[in-house]
Amino acid sequence: MHVNIAILGAGGFVGSHMVEHLLRRGEHEVVCVDLTDEKLKGLPHNGYTFHRADVRQAPDVVERVIERADVVVDLIAYANPSIYVTAPLAVFELNFMQNLEIARLCMCHGKRLIQYSSAEVYGKARDGSCFSEDRSDSTFGPVRKQRWIYAVGKLLLEQVLYAHGMAGDLVFTIIRPFNFVGSRLDYLVAPGTMGGPRVFAHFMSALLTGGPIHLVDGGRVHRAFLHIEDANEAFQTILDNPDRARNEIFNVGNPANNVTIRELAVLMLELYEALTGEKAPCELVEVSGEEFYGAGYEDADRLPPDITKLKSLGWEPKRDLRTTFADAMAYYLENRERELANLRAQGNVPDAVTRSSGHVYAAA
Ligand code: UDP
Repeated sequence: MHVNIAILGAGGFVGSHMVEHLLRRGEHEVVCVDLTDEKLKGLPHNGYTFHRADVRQAPDVVERVIERADVVVDLIAYANPSIYVTAPLAVFELNFMQNLEIARLCMCHGKRLIQYSSAEVYGKARDGSCFSEDRSDSTFGPVRKQRWIYAVGKLLLEQVLYAHGMAGDLVFTIIRPFNFVGSRLDYLVAPGTMGGPRVFAHFMSALLTGGPIHLVDGGRVHRAFLHIEDANEAFQTILDNPDRARNEIFNVGNPANNVTIRELAVLMLELYEALTGEKAPCELVEVSGEEFYGAGYEDADRLPPDITKLKSLGWEPKRDLRTTFADAMAYYLENRERELANLRAQGNVPDAVTRSSGHVYAAA
């Protein structure tokens, strides 16, 4: 069935891949809202409608788009730990208050909401062998560790959506993304930059510029990485199964791609050599979490996701760890000159918060 899909936060990493995926399939009308369409630039312009707007300042645009949609996908969030510790109230306002407002508009106009949440809602729980949507407990650090405002805000949003679902006034599906990886992930940074984008972008920047690869707290924590194409296919499964996904929460990740951050660094060094035939120009340097992200940072050693629930709807991740990172790295190596020119054009790359607060990032 042909539907109108409104994607709020379509200009980020996850959103731009979602738009590309939907345009490839060509089944639906795609309407995008974001501050910027930089990452959408290579896509066919006639395939989608783009509204350049800051959802915080353009409630009329948001309401009009939601009113006309059949399905609303909400990707809007700051997803950068530096911001959690330096601007926690901005995180609360955007990630919780603003998203609640979007959910209220979906209720008011009777629209299905697909809300992107985060694997962070499990916090630092280590209970069990993997994180299960409906069985795992969540454990967070002390309030003084401001980092947790992101996770707690996301969890509260889920709890409120769930309550509205139970009350019968909202139809929703919540997606908990586990470390999606692909091209267009965040932005590159100058050598030695700390606390900016997510780990893949940091490591890729180091490989392209010869800067150090920083291992935060020794890179001992685990993450399970998912190829962005597998993430697109998960989204499609949820989109296509409105009844079975109704008022449900799904982990979207690949438990088979579980590694420590140190192992990831070694893998990316190896892949760089295999893909370019050159020796990787960077060294591994250990830094503390507070040094890298700022006071109030605390990390979690994350368990891999239990994906039984989404598998029961027919989805399964297909790309292994090597393929996932080789594909993402190949994009940057093929576009090396353009990517480095973009980085140089930013001058001396601004600090993480200045830059990030001007962008709406997709959660992951
Ligand atoms: N990290 C790192 N070096 C970097 C950037 C990140 O060691 O240059 C670590 C970070 O401390 C965390 C992990 O990599 O333990 C994943 O960080 P990311 O921001 O990508 O994702 P999240 O923590 O949200 O899973």
